[in-house]
Amino acid sequence: MSGVKAQQISKVVIVGGGTAGWITAAAMARLLPSAIEIVLVESDAIGTVGVGEATIPQIRRLNGVLGLDEDDFVRKTRATFKLGIEFNNWGRRGDSYLHTFGDPGINLASLSFHQYWLKARAEGSDASLWDYSLHHKVAYANKFGRMERVGNTSMTGLAYAFHFDAGLYAAYLRHYAEKEGVKRIEGKINDVSLHGESGFIKSVGLESGQQVSGDLFIDCSGFRGLLINGSLGVGYQDWSKWLPCNRAVAVGSQRKNPLVPYTKATAHGAGWQWRIPLQHRTGNGHVFCDSFISVDEASDILLANLDAEAIGEPRPLGFTTGRREKFWKKNCVSIGLSSGFLEPLESTSIHLIQSNVSRLIELFPSAGFEPAIIEEYNRQVAHEYELVRDFLILHYHLTARDDTEFWRYCANMDVPDSLRAKMALFEAGGRLWKDAEDLFREASWVQVMIGQGLMPKGYHAMADRLSSDQLQRMMRDLKAIIAKAEGSLPSHADFIAAHCNAD
Ligand code: FAD
Repeated sequence: MSGVKAQQISKVVIVGGGTAGWITAAAMARLLPSAIEIVLVESDAIGTVGVGEATIPQIRRLNGVLGLDEDDFVRKTRATFKLGIEFNNWGRRGDSYLHTFGDPGINLASLSFHQYWLKARAEGSDASLWDYSLHHKVAYANKFGRMERVGNTSMTGLAYAFHFDAGLYAAYLRHYAEKEGVKRIEGKINDVSLHGESGFIKSVGLESGQQVSGDLFIDCSGFRGLLINGSLGVGYQDWSKWLPCNRAVAVGSQRKNPLVPYTKATAHGAGWQWRIPLQHRTGNGHVFCDSFISVDEASDILLANLDAEAIGEPRPLGFTTGRREKFWKKNCVSIGLSSGFLEPLESTSIHLIQSNVSRLIELFPSAGFEPAIIEEYNRQVAHEYELVRDFLILHYHLTARDDTEFWRYCANMDVPDSLRAKMALFEAGGRLWKDAEDLFREASWVQVMIGQGLMPKGYHAMADRLSSDQLQRMMRDLKAIIAKAEGSLPSHADFIAAHCNAD
């Protein structure tokens, strides 16, 4: 006999059928050997959190792994395309900038474009950073198209994500996962049994009396963390002091034309409002902190700021920003809201689900629950959460707003050292220290920092390798190339009608 152990996981039980449960089920069914049985338990009576969801471009990798046909996916989930997020009233009331998924301009001789832009500004140009952004130009023309490269230049084309109907998305993935062999059990879990000595989870018991046993349990039960918290007692790190919003009210409204290819995030007095365009309606929600305004006041603000008639009444949701102390304990891994929530400002939740599922598959405990594997998983997930957390705090902290108690709190709060150092370095000369594991690219940080008023004191000396004439020519050429590329695209609505309309 060789020393190689047999596979020890023959059955995976996923608890919960929200976005987290069905993404996990679909990815595992696709990537794990079919000999591993996958069962998903969910309760229609409990329901899911899913509101109108916005995503980031990494979701296209998941779609690729699952082998989804993108047009079919967009059609079935009534999705629209997303090129970025428009932030209104964040740095100051009346301000607006677009955090685009693509890099403005073009990086030259390994120097980031914003350094050339800073040099041009120092020489008297009043052009904005976004005057050199293809995404900005296309988004505000309400256009869209799939474009890998810009013409025959070395400029990358359009990076995009989707806005979709969360309920339809879960249904789409459920259909996919069941076709791949996942077995769904409907029922409410009211009891969890542990193995006596090890404390590992043995089975979950349903109200009907049915027991569902397994080797590996994935807790996708939402905020309650039925297994990871309820049965295994893993606590929660509360990050409200940095991300104070703790409630949302959400409501749909009639579709508004033109169909814009971006999310809107408009700051109010004690939070912000999202606007997510779908093919058949618009998703809206007001995220706020209830220490500063009541649910009724938040609902009134939400309804007063819709751009079309509301469909139904605002639905309230509560949450605490933060993360689980551990994401994997014994034979239980938490994925989705059970593992933490960082509020929806940069649409990162679905991405965190996807990255944790892929990490779990990468570190799959084929030969047993080895501490080294569990520790590595917990380290990676905690780090990813912290990187995203800092990026979100930046939006609240980097503000000149002092018109409400909420904004005064955010502007003056103590931020993590990691973020403070990043902001100081950028201000000192436009440089960014980039963690290799950071989800957000340098251009994302640059856009939010500049968009909210943090202007570097100088620019990198390497930008002076271009003379003023060369720089002006480059900037002119870029604008012309971008205008030509934008001119070649159809409207966002026409693109959807031609490729992925559900009607
Ligand atoms: P849930 O949707 O809560 O699902 C939990 C599942 O567990 C359900 O199926 C439920 O039936 C089941 N369950 C629970 N208890 C039991 C039990 N006892 N027995 C049986 N089954 C049980 N993410 C984004 O990426 N983009 C966004 O724009 C975005 N916007 C958001 C806005 C708000 C206000 C909120 C709160 C979240 C937002 N999110 C967003 C996050 C996103 O909605 C969630 O990450 C995602 O829906 C995953 O949720 P989940 O599957 O973990 O939990």
